[in-house]
Amino acid sequence: GLRWGLIGASDIAATRMIPAMRALGHSVTALCSSSAPRATVWAGAHGVPHTTTSVEELLARDDIDAVYISTTNDLHLPHTLAAAAAGKHVLCEKPLALSLADAWSMVEACRTAGVVLGVNHHLPGAATHRRIRELVAAGAVGRPLAARVSHAVALPERLRGWRLRDPGSGAGVVLDITCHDASVTNALFGTPVEATALAVRQGSWEAAADDAAMSVIRYDDGVLAQTHDAFTVAHARTGLEVHGTDGSITAVDVMTQNPVGTVHLHDAAGSREIDVPGRRDLYEVVLEDLARAVCGAGEPTVTGSQGVHALAVALAVQEAARTGRTAPVDLAP
Ligand code: NDP
Repeated sequence: GLRWGLIGASDIAATRMIPAMRALGHSVTALCSSSAPRATVWAGAHGVPHTTTSVEELLARDDIDAVYISTTNDLHLPHTLAAAAAGKHVLCEKPLALSLADAWSMVEACRTAGVVLGVNHHLPGAATHRRIRELVAAGAVGRPLAARVSHAVALPERLRGWRLRDPGSGAGVVLDITCHDASVTNALFGTPVEATALAVRQGSWEAAADDAAMSVIRYDDGVLAQTHDAFTVAHARTGLEVHGTDGSITAVDVMTQNPVGTVHLHDAAGSREIDVPGRRDLYEVVLEDLARAVCGAGEPTVTGSQGVHALAVALAVQEAARTGRTAPVDLAP
């Protein structure tokens, strides 16, 4: 198993990634956090043997093969560049960066250094989403025409910090959630072309960034994808619908962090539930694909360039919401 260094004493590292690393037999060697006292407490709570406040010191360790970067979104860039320079493989949180130029520079730095870069979009590797892509590729819906993504959730109290309040850290629902939607719809439909959107602040909190957004993304071949992303909706089911000339797929509870949800296919033959084999922890899938890629076998679940393409959609949605005009999706490196 890989030996991991963690950059960022984050909620997601504690709640999802460390458990997934250990379940796969990977080890967690050290943590780098900007705060020494918090690093000590956090590492103690999660059984991480070494701590440092210096990224360089973490990256200089020879008992680390790869780093998992889960700092705030603005810091993914410097942390990934430093890891690449030190020859460590990288699993970076989404969104990769705050600008496309920054995100492409991360892809390029990892490529030049010969290290693997994976992006921690957990949804495309989910058994449900793999099954939906298989169905669409096999022609189960005919020619794809449209998708509707419901990804409106309630932001847990413990996460109501920089995500709502600090634009410099990459706050806002679009960077947080719309990029996940795009990781799913890009994998289904290929090339996103342009987006239109509206975004608002509707939570009962002081927010410096939008906490709810709806967008329409046009893919080439005339496919339209509609998204509803929010931090403000407590009781909605999440879901994905894919509509084509010959059939429709409705998948419920599939835009979540857990290996749950159902997939139904509706066509001329009627409606039926589709079997979803191979359900596994979504984060273990990402880690296992990354470990395999490090050994030269296969690609990360979401590669660096796929991560940039997801960011490109999110940034177009943000731009469209800001300007009130349709914004092009810029996929060029
Ligand atoms: P957190 O707010 O928990 O952590 C982010 C950073 O904030 C940490 O690196 C840490 O800095 C600092 N921090 C954490 N707790 C405190 C505290 N009590 N006081 C002061 N500073 C603190 O973020 P999340 O775990 O929610 O998100 C981290 C990244 O992971 C983001 O990029 C996010 O988009 C992504 N994410 C991805 C998910 C997925 O499913 N793929 C799900 C959730 C988040 P330091 O580095 O100094 O330790």
